[in-house]
Amino acid sequence: MITGDAPPTTTKTVHALWERLTRELADVLDAHGICAAVAYEIAVYSELTVVVGLSDPQGKYYDVWVCPPNGNITQARWPTGKASFRLLSAANRPLVQQKYQLPPKEVISSELWLLARDEVLFVPLPFPAGRSSLVPAGALCLIDPPAGYLFDITSIEPLAIHISTFLERAFLRHRTDRQEVEFAIVYDLTSSLTSTLSLDSIFSQITDPVRRILNVETVSIGLVEPASGDIIFVDMLMGPLFRQLPTIRLKPGQGIAGWVASQGEPVIINNVQTDERFYRSVDHSSGFRTNSILCVPLRVEQRVIGVLEAINKQDGNFSDNDLRLLQAITGPLAAALENAWLHADVLAEKRRIETIFANMSEGMLTVNAEGRVTAANDAFLSLAQVEVGQLLGRLASEVIHLNNEGGFAALMARVIDSAEEVPHIACELAQGREEQVPVLVSGAPIHNEANELSEAIYVFSDLRQIREVERMRDDFFHNIVHELRTPLATILMYARLLREGKARDDSAKADRFLGVIERESDRLQRMVRQMLQVAKLNAREIQRSSELVRLNAVFDDMLPPLAEQALQKGLTFSQRIPADLPPVMGNQETLYMIFKNLVDNAVKFTMSGTVSVKCLVQDESIQVEVRDEGIGIPRSAMPNLFKRFYRTQTAVERGIAGTGLGLYMVKEGVEKHGGSLDVQSVEGKGTTFTVRLPAAVE
Ligand code: ATP
Ligand code: MG
Repeated sequence: MITGDAPPTTTKTVHALWERLTRELADVLDAHGICAAVAYEIAVYSELTVVVGLSDPQGKYYDVWVCPPNGNITQARWPTGKASFRLLSAANRPLVQQKYQLPPKEVISSELWLLARDEVLFVPLPFPAGRSSLVPAGALCLIDPPAGYLFDITSIEPLAIHISTFLERAFLRHRTDRQEVEFAIVYDLTSSLTSTLSLDSIFSQITDPVRRILNVETVSIGLVEPASGDIIFVDMLMGPLFRQLPTIRLKPGQGIAGWVASQGEPVIINNVQTDERFYRSVDHSSGFRTNSILCVPLRVEQRVIGVLEAINKQDGNFSDNDLRLLQAITGPLAAALENAWLHADVLAEKRRIETIFANMSEGMLTVNAEGRVTAANDAFLSLAQVEVGQLLGRLASEVIHLNNEGGFAALMARVIDSAEEVPHIACELAQGREEQVPVLVSGAPIHNEANELSEAIYVFSDLRQIREVERMRDDFFHNIVHELRTPLATILMYARLLREGKARDDSAKADRFLGVIERESDRLQRMVRQMLQVAKLNAREIQRSSELVRLNAVFDDMLPPLAEQALQKGLTFSQRIPADLPPVMGNQETLYMIFKNLVDNAVKFTMSGTVSVKCLVQDESIQVEVRDEGIGIPRSAMPNLFKRFYRTQTAVERGIAGTGLGLYMVKEGVEKHGGSLDVQSVEGKGTTFTVRLPAAVE
């Protein structure tokens, strides 16, 4: 040892220092406070420069307290390489190191050796070391202790043990504190999760606390898609890098998440880049770099519903403690996710039922166990002609009037008893005050889990339309039979007359008879052709034979005989058609049929007045207007006008011939040409049909 300093003069003892330290450290419960107090007390008491260093858990740096004899303590952070405490980790006991024995390179780069002139007495902290893995390695250094002074290697030992006790107490306390904090966070998290039903808020609740307690860069949740078993990552958790990317999806077993989901076991991987399970393409496309992953499965009962990943531990490696923490929240998290799903399912189901309920064309009504109306859809309101306010909460038997025996109450009783599959009755529903609507009402009870009646649902089908269809069908048969029978009877009669020789000697007469036969056969043929045309339209033959059609030619061909017919009937016929109409892409035969039917109808259903055909070209479309001053079409007939075989009651009553196929074919034909058909009519005043067809570009 180097001499030259004043020899120690004091009666100071290690024991006295021990006592001072014990007093000082009694209330200090954090490691940093202990280190600072130790450095200060020893320095001031021994009049030496004292250094106390404490390593961080990863061994990257030391927190260092340097105290000269005057007590002017400073705190610093030295990188491990510059701290020169390395010697100790090998020795694990107190030792004295001479400065001159060290390689100059080491001395120059050392923070510690800057402080020492000749030598340093090193004491490992805690001492003896290795008692607890919780305690990071530290060192107590006395700089240039004079020979034979207060401390030597043996006398320092009991003091070091004493200090170590305080340090360990601090570390234990720290661990308990940390566990308490972790427990509090996990507790908070789980209790807030149990009260959450929205996936979004689950995700936002989980991210921050998990990031904080584990000290990781990011957290992600992958959910197993039930249908495919793929794992789909929740993008909103992944941070801005991932927002622009398509959803990340892993096949079953793919990547670390896939492995965890399929094995149902957690993993800690501190260097994912060397792990063959790691799926690189996500990092490639996002630019994010994954270093370490802690991944745990999320289970509901035995099913794995997803995985929770903590990514990139910020201070070193994932530990078993991190795993324990993450596992502590997976149970509540999985349950919360499952609940949120179920809730979302229930909501979706509810919305679906509401949509069906609201949009059914049938009237629907629900009635609760007390017999009060709980809901009614728009179709019901318009069928019964009531406001919803007149129904809700009221007794159904009082507000819904059926003309069956016992009224609505009788039907309700049958539905609740439900001996029949679905009880239903055909009766009339009072519409507003006076009218009655024919309806078919059926009902079904809805039971709760305890199998008690909670509600019953009633469906009201408007029979008016069905009746109308039935009437149309009857009319059609009647028409067909009538239309076919008349010419057939005539043909038969004249043929018989000829066979009986009634015109044997009279060739003019025979000629007339044959003329009648010919005309009536023509009529039959026309009717058959019309029916064939309908069949052809349905078979969509037009699209297959499309060509440029000149409407002028169609009108030139079609209008003169119809005009003649109108004139013969005593009507005025007017036509205004430009000579150079643009062509139309389509089928000539169909276009002919469209206009022929419309003009034919106009002439047929007009007893006196004018029939006019007007044509104009507007914005690349051709508009043809067929107007008459005939019997008109009642408003109630409008919904059925273009249906097959439909004829208005007025037309039938007036005995105007027809099969009711014309307008059906017109509408089909116009639609197949990409055009539109519009009708305006006032009963007793007249009708205007307007056809718009797209003009073809030549
Ligand atoms: P078809 O055309 O098959 O020989 P139809 O003329 O009776 O028979 P549609 O052309 O389909 O049948 O017309 C259907 C019904 O619409 C007619 O029966 C008639 O009641 C009504 N209708 C059509 N056009 C007019 C019109 N211009 N004025 C008044 N009623 C019309
Ligand atoms: Mg017609």
